[in-house]
Amino acid sequence: MLIKAEIIASGTELLMGELQDSNSAYLAAQLPSFGLEVLRITLVGDDIKQYGEVLFRAWQRADFTFTTGGLGPTKDDVTRETIAQVFQQEIFTDHQLVDDLKNIFRARGTEMPAHNLKQAGLIDGAIGIPNRMGTAPGWWAEKNGHVIVALPGPPNELQHMWENEIAVRLRSRVKGKVILTRTLKTIGLAEAAVDEMIRDLLGLENPYLGIYAKPDGIHLRIIAKASTNAGALDLIRPIEAQIRTVFKSSIWGSDSETIEGSLGLLLTERGLTVATMESCTGGMLASKLTDVPGSSRYFMGSVVAYTNDLKIASGVPAQLIKKHGAVSAQVAEAMAEAARLRLGADFGVGVTGVTGPEAIDGQIPGTVYVGVAQQGKTHSVHNRFPPYNRGLVKRRATMAALLALRNTFDIPQ
Ligand code: ATP
Repeated sequence: MLIKAEIIASGTELLMGELQDSNSAYLAAQLPSFGLEVLRITLVGDDIKQYGEVLFRAWQRADFTFTTGGLGPTKDDVTRETIAQVFQQEIFTDHQLVDDLKNIFRARGTEMPAHNLKQAGLIDGAIGIPNRMGTAPGWWAEKNGHVIVALPGPPNELQHMWENEIAVRLRSRVKGKVILTRTLKTIGLAEAAVDEMIRDLLGLENPYLGIYAKPDGIHLRIIAKASTNAGALDLIRPIEAQIRTVFKSSIWGSDSETIEGSLGLLLTERGLTVATMESCTGGMLASKLTDVPGSSRYFMGSVVAYTNDLKIASGVPAQLIKKHGAVSAQVAEAMAEAARLRLGADFGVGVTGVTGPEAIDGQIPGTVYVGVAQQGKTHSVHNRFPPYNRGLVKRRATMAALLALRNTFDIPQ
């Protein structure tokens, strides 16, 4: 039987749409490897009545409930009070927690402000969890065999507490249940085609196979549940082998691998370099390439040539723009070639497109051409992305450019 978990993120900022709930995503990604299955993720404001209702139900249903936020010193930080209410316990001041707090402030060279005393509150059945990145201690609280773990809101505090305090406690509490996932990332295939190719695997329960459309292609995720790591791996392996046989070189990576990271490896291994000339992506391609540590070994630089004048000054023939328009396969290829030659790289990548909302030279928003140039060989790829939003078109265009470069490598499986 799996262990049931729920996550509750609290904070009115979350309900106002001012803050993205990245903490729940972090926790949801951590829990399966402990054998915990996340049943629900709930957002709730700072209202103790609403929070109490949500927390009470979660605590009743789930073996573990993880909360994030609301552990600060101010009046609207109500997580401790809410847990106390759900457990029908009185909060008392814990002297050890008071000392710990005073020490934190002393180390910062100040006295503890009086309102921080609130953070030293505890109830019977709970222990305080040290917070080495901030002041708010967490709580590990238990009643009727169901646990509530209260974690701070700031992501660095939450993650540090998770890694250094909670993971080990959880591991010793829940032995014998493991969920492992393996994600295989494909390119150049439509979701429907992927679905068709592995139809017979899609009905499986354990391991379960899911298909997800992502900006970098279609992902296939295998999820296996077993009592040991080795058992879960044994379930994953044959399915992974079968998928790899079906998709062959359409699979460009797995798990946390990124296209820019995988490109970085390919270029480094081969001692090759790349330069870019970008129009519609406005530098985003260079930014993505330089997200990879060590990219200075293979990335020479980028010209963000937004205007036609700058494209021409950077080496794109003026008559090509005049004849085909700035958003064209010919200009994308010329930009790639010019970047390669001007910046002295083995590969050049050019990106030109229409981010919208207006059409350019009859080309509709979402139209993007990527050119890739190398010694003696130049080609381009035409893309048509959904035109709704400039940011999205830029991101998809950046991904298309990375993929186009990645596809020039012949990678043995
Ligand atoms: P503090 O002691 O800093 O007040 P706290 O535990 O009370 O910590 P909150 O006051 O709820 O946490 O949130 C503090 C900050 O942490 C927020 O302003 C926000 O920047 C970040 N934060 C809170 N909840 C989340 C969340 N679910 N996902 C991402 N960031 C969050």
